[in-house]
Amino acid sequence: MPRIALFPGSFDPITNGHVDIVRQAVRLADRLILAIGTHPGKVPLFSTDDRLAMLNEICAPVAQAAKCELRCITFADLVVATAKREGAGILIRGLRSGSDLDYEMEMAGMNGAMAPDIQTVFLPASPPVRPITATLVRQISAMGGDVSSFVPSAVAARLKAKFSSKSG
Ligand code: ADP
Repeated sequence: MPRIALFPGSFDPITNGHVDIVRQAVRLADRLILAIGTHPGKVPLFSTDDRLAMLNEICAPVAQAAKCELRCITFADLVVATAKREGAGILIRGLRSGSDLDYEMEMAGMNGAMAPDIQTVFLPASPPVRPITATLVRQISAMGGDVSSFVPSAVAARLKAKFSSKSG
């Protein structure tokens, strides 16, 4: 049976922190599904299409190098419902800090109660990417800061284009 893992998130935009977790996850799974959660009340910086394009562009080579199949999707319902629909038995979450762990333990507990067949796996962020959050990346970029050490270069270019067109 192939090992199918689902990594859910907002990926608005994908950062070097997310890529670090993807690099680890492709070593564990035969198929990795990157799932962009869309929330009706939350207006993202990047459209779902843009986020899907960035995920595919950046993660396809990473998956290919590990001989892992990659699939990028969006979802608007529960993570466990999405995992079941996709046939995923593994739920990947990245851990940056102890405070991430507190929150993630609650989520893993609730998800485990709702879907006992789905195993949450926590992957530790590599030290250099631990401080990176997509929220800070958006804020720094909006104020004209350089985010090139926090995101892949294709993402940095898209952020630059987005904010320079807004200020023009
Ligand atoms: P963010 O919290 O940056 O907005 P997401 O909501 O997209 O990111 O988070 C999706 C997943 O990615 C979560 O499991 C989160 O812990 C993980 N993640 C986000 N940033 C990092 C990072 N810098 N290092 C490791 N994992 C991360």
